[in-house]
Amino acid sequence: MKLILLGPPGAGKGTQAEVLTKKLGIETISTGVMLRAAMRDGTDLGKLAKEYIDQGKLVPDEVVVGIVKERLSQDDCKNGFILDGFPRTIPQAEALTNAGVEIDKVLSLEVDDEIIVERLTGRRECKACGTPYHIKNKPVPESGKCVCGGEIIQRADDNEETIRNRIKVYHEQTEPIKEYYASLGKVVSVDSAGTVEETNAAVISALGL
Ligand code: ADP
Ligand code: ZN
Repeated sequence: MKLILLGPPGAGKGTQAEVLTKKLGIETISTGVMLRAAMRDGTDLGKLAKEYIDQGKLVPDEVVVGIVKERLSQDDCKNGFILDGFPRTIPQAEALTNAGVEIDKVLSLEVDDEIIVERLTGRRECKACGTPYHIKNKPVPESGKCVCGGEIIQRADDNEETIRNRIKVYHEQTEPIKEYYASLGKVVSVDSAGTVEETNAAVISALGL
């Protein structure tokens, strides 16, 4: 299964990816997780990405396309993968097509802008493994640490001003790729405004799993 998770920031892509990865036995490739890892390690890629991410802007297409192609060429992607956060622009979607990658399905998680702001301001994340948490909807374990033992942090780009910018960028640059894949008959839409469990049940049934 070659699956793309599409939806605005805070739609729950990372949370659903976590469940789908286990159920399907395939890796999730998250450009957000990869870019933040590079930022933490202070690599050239990380330094470049930080300039954009901290402002809620997209990292340039050629940079992101490069890291995704490299990742998809690895052995553990042979039997399929889940893409979370990529493609995010029409040129990125075209680059995937031109690289000969045949996507089976695009799962579109639908949620209103007002809910997104509430979700993202309450979002927390494991610094080590990237597992998402939420102060109300998915509390951090009592230990105060991630299930992997990692430290729980709030992302620098999860402040209200940057969040509003990311939502705007989503509508302008990312939402059009829904049409791109819809015209290929690949889009499955699921309402993601409810709880994690409700959304997950809808996702499993929409994908026929
Ligand atoms: P979210 O979906 O919550 O905004 P992500 O972790 O997917 O969070 O991405 C965080 C940031 O990383 C984005 O706002 C953007 O700056 C950058 N980024 C991630 N994926 C891409 C991509 N495919 N193209 C360009 N920039 C990206
Ligand atoms: Zn963790």
